[in-house]
Amino acid sequence: MTTPDLPFLPFALPDIGEDEIAEVVDTLRSGWVTTGPKTKRFEQAFTEFLGDSVIESIAVNSATAGLHLALEALGIGPGDEVITTTHTFTATAEVVRYLGADVVLVDIDPKTLNIDPKLVEAAITPRTKCIIPVHFGGLAVDMLEILNIARRHGLRVVEDAAHCLPSTIEGELIGTMGSDATVFSFYANKTITTGEGGMLCTRNAALAKRAKVMRLHGMNRDAFDRFTAKVPSWYYEIVAPGFKYNLTDIAASMGLHQLKRARGFQQRRAEIAAQYQEAFADLPVILPPDAPEGDMHSWHLYVLRLRDDAPLSRDGLIEALFAAGIGCSVHYIPLHLHPYWRDRYALKPEQFPHSHKAYEQMLSLPIYTKMTDADVQRVIAAVSDCLQA
Ligand SMILES: *Cc1c(COP(=O)(O)O)cnc(C)c1O
Repeated sequence: MTTPDLPFLPFALPDIGEDEIAEVVDTLRSGWVTTGPKTKRFEQAFTEFLGDSVIESIAVNSATAGLHLALEALGIGPGDEVITTTHTFTATAEVVRYLGADVVLVDIDPKTLNIDPKLVEAAITPRTKCIIPVHFGGLAVDMLEILNIARRHGLRVVEDAAHCLPSTIEGELIGTMGSDATVFSFYANKTITTGEGGMLCTRNAALAKRAKVMRLHGMNRDAFDRFTAKVPSWYYEIVAPGFKYNLTDIAASMGLHQLKRARGFQQRRAEIAAQYQEAFADLPVILPPDAPEGDMHSWHLYVLRLRDDAPLSRDGLIEALFAAGIGCSVHYIPLHLHPYWRDRYALKPEQFPHSHKAYEQMLSLPIYTKMTDADVQRVIAAVSDCLQA
């Protein structure tokens, strides 16, 4: 079905241009490689991208770090409960455990694969402090509903936006919706990348202040301030046992140019998604839902689910595609199946029927800007070959 001598098509590849490379080289030659002027510019550019000057963007070395800082700044700690989805990467939940609080996992809406707001509300107890919605694959969670629930019950909301730069809901960019904080990821396979990196965005000035102190050892002023000051400025004070979560200027150099390309990247991924949607419409599969009319889906992931009448299993399809030289993945092995989460909270698959079923049916196909039209056609041909009756 596929020419055997075609090179392997990886599941994901970063799209790094000459501007990113030149900016990194400029930083390397500048004498300032850690957090400094480029990180500041990247933060400012990120706030401009979100289009609301009240939002503070705080660059960190991973989204995991950003989520941890946001929850820490909100005072989440032992005895508290934080509600999130079982259908996510472990980073979403592990940060809750860093702080000694407990994770309460709930199931997803089987159509969107996003956390089900009704189940969030049902899981609230007197110990609940915060909700972490995850915008799965780049399709925005119904944030109006989540924010309403939070308001009714006096809860905090921290959005795991690792997949969704840029996505909108009701025409508004994720990151501007009025939650306490939103955290984006710039990991190698995300919609823009700095190798490793993340951005914590918030309108809450107290949260921002605490996160900036905790980002760098609990110092009351950062290294860039001290070393670039015009007067001798060796003095600083430690006001808390902070973390080492700052982003380097080398990484920020990539981010500056990746951010400029974010909308173009989204358009290309949306184009690929549209081709997949059309090509797979008559196969025994469940297609991923498009964003509601007028809204933007970042299409970080393209997740296909096999119907029960498909001629082969999910594992069988992944093996066949691999044999055809195409890399795939699965997002996610839900948290309730991982030994740590399963054992800590005595979780059973029956508690998460939709996530569990989706997990057994799903695979993620390649969807990235470095794919050529021929690559897209190759994936379409291989999937169609495997699934046509
Ligand atoms: C990638 C990812 C993270 C973690 O991002 P890092 O930048 O690698 O820390 C968190 N949540 C989700 C849903 C992710 O996909």
